[in-house]
Amino acid sequence: MRAGRDLTRQSLSSVRRALAGLCLFAGLVGAGPAPGAETAPVGTVAHAVVLTPRTGGASLALELSQATQFEVRLHAKPDRIVIDLPKVAFVHAPAQGKADGKVGPISAMRYGLFIADRSRIVLDLAEPAVLDRVDSFEADGRQRLIFHFSRVERARYIEAVNRDALRRQAAAALVAPAPETETRTAGSLPLVVIDPGHGGIDGGATTQDGDSEKVIVLALAQAVHEALEKSGRVRVALTRTDDTFVALGDRVKFARERKADLMVSLHADKLVYEKGVRGASIYTVSEKASDVISARLADSENAADQRAGVEPTEDATIIGDILFDLTKRETRQSSIGFARHLAVTLPQITSMHKNPLRSAGFRVLTAPDVPSVLIETGYLSSSEDAKLLKSAEWRSRMAQAVATAIEKYLGENATRVTNSAARP
Ligand code: ZN
Repeated sequence: MRAGRDLTRQSLSSVRRALAGLCLFAGLVGAGPAPGAETAPVGTVAHAVVLTPRTGGASLALELSQATQFEVRLHAKPDRIVIDLPKVAFVHAPAQGKADGKVGPISAMRYGLFIADRSRIVLDLAEPAVLDRVDSFEADGRQRLIFHFSRVERARYIEAVNRDALRRQAAAALVAPAPETETRTAGSLPLVVIDPGHGGIDGGATTQDGDSEKVIVLALAQAVHEALEKSGRVRVALTRTDDTFVALGDRVKFARERKADLMVSLHADKLVYEKGVRGASIYTVSEKASDVISARLADSENAADQRAGVEPTEDATIIGDILFDLTKRETRQSSIGFARHLAVTLPQITSMHKNPLRSAGFRVLTAPDVPSVLIETGYLSSSEDAKLLKSAEWRSRMAQAVATAIEKYLGENATRVTNSAARP
């Protein structure tokens, strides 16, 4: 390994020994506390991040100023490898922490601060590849980690992701459910936040008969909760469980504080200018709206706080623009991945807008670290949609379709694993 030549092999850490034979596992955690834990080293500096091709794959060499924990996960659709670290300063980094150009199966690499106390390296995969092993060398107080990735057939890649998810579920079954506010840890069930729109003083849209959006979407949220609870594969939290007002920023905060794996906002709005339009739409966030209707809808939704008399507060973020952008890109990709699952399950139940996958600047979808999607389940301005939305039968089928998409998405993406070295 070219990257390792200049370092004396003073010690091979337990990481390598623990990993021998684990070549197909989708993810792993380095020895010690999870990234972001309070005991994580402070002031770690990455002196080098070097990606090199090797026979059958690629290697990533990471030279750090001190011994550091790490966590590796695989994600599908889009396929990528994520390495989470405690806060690391990438001192040598190119301007935006990004390297383009294919290296073995890896099409692009980017890195930077993910949230306040965690850094992340993302490797986009042009071809499926899994982690073979990690070598850890320590010399002069520095640590060099070398991650070896090997190309595999797509079926084996998906198998690795799925096996990993099963291991997580098995591990979760052995431990008591974590409180909602606890930090996400390997082995805990993923948390989904269901966000019924509007509430209290903000009724949302209303039908000609006076039925309000806030009531319709709360009933649907509770039905999704029930459907998910029945299968027992995820934890669920609702931003509201009764007719109370929740500010948009508080909804985002609710999901972020709980370190949710996914946030799903439910709405059923009214179109003022396009009365004939009907069907469900699936929204992700974007600065520029995909079309005029989406832009108007986002404006109207974003005015919910004002309508309720709440002063908009800008969440002060300590994350710099570029790093914030990195996080958003990653989260946005995940959001789009989940939206695609919905675009498969929802049409089996309900009619869809002719362009169902859309985007606009919805404030409720702006959590930089929680993939978030807003479902417009239908338009109350359409009498056909309104009739459906009020039907208990439609509601339970729709809830099941949303739950199925959630479970499919999480099965593919939430793939962290604890190895024996990390948690005896
Ligand atoms: Zn709404």
